[in-house]
Amino acid sequence: MSNSADGKLLLIGLGPGDTDLQTPAALRALTNGDVIVGYRGYIDQVSDLAAGKELVSMDLGQEMERAARAVDLAYQGRSVAVVSSGDAGIYGMAGPVFRVLTDRGWDGESPAVEVVPGISALQSAASLLGSPLMQDFCAISLSNLLTPWEAISRRLEAAAFGDFVVTLYNPRSQRRTWQLPEARRILLEHRPADTPVGLVKDAYRPTQQVSVTNLGELESCLELVDMFTTVVIGNSTTYVHKGFIITPRGYEAKQVSSASNPD
Ligand code: SAH
Repeated sequence: MSNSADGKLLLIGLGPGDTDLQTPAALRALTNGDVIVGYRGYIDQVSDLAAGKELVSMDLGQEMERAARAVDLAYQGRSVAVVSSGDAGIYGMAGPVFRVLTDRGWDGESPAVEVVPGISALQSAASLLGSPLMQDFCAISLSNLLTPWEAISRRLEAAAFGDFVVTLYNPRSQRRTWQLPEARRILLEHRPADTPVGLVKDAYRPTQQVSVTNLGELESCLELVDMFTTVVIGNSTTYVHKGFIITPRGYEAKQVSSASNPD
């Protein structure tokens, strides 16, 4: 029987879905866990490695319960792998787990915690669109289930004003439909209607869809946007060439090749 001091929490990011985009470190960490906690769809992604291990699979929206269960098991001396899609530290399970640990007066050592990074949706989406994130960018989640809309809209305003390239996570669900049009309205106060927008749904999964539009026309593409879509909105220098969204490395004039930049 294991001793509580041996308990371990492995917070693992599994990337966007394709096994080629899972890191060896993430897979190794997963094999070190004797219990796997996570959303059923993510555990299915790693079913070979999960064989023979205890599984605690839950439904979406049960993050705090999942985190509490994982922490309970770790305090009992188990090695618990908690899986998230993308990166566990980006709108993933790392936050809820650290929160539960904090609430329980965790000493920082036992159970031990290891966070294993994964390829996040913004990287997956960007790679399929071209090079939209070449200057300063930010990620904003449009889910107002855990964050009040006032805070989200303030961040959208600041990002729009600051000319950041913006990536939107959790852009639209069946019930949350007004947030994306509202985000578009805020961005249009600071950016022209021809600002490029990339929509990437199910990146690196068999059902992947990539589409390029602009802020003005985004309203007519809303059916492509759901909870498995990442939206990338260019800044004032971003342009589209042959279907690719390109943000130049610096603020040089558009369409000018940058022979002086060795990168
Ligand atoms: N931890 C995850 C994000 C979880 S929040 C990460 O780092 O990627 C869930 C949101 O991530 C979704 O609403 C969507 O906006 C985005 N997302 C996750 N997987 C995706 C995929 N394969 N393709 C496109 N967007 C994805």
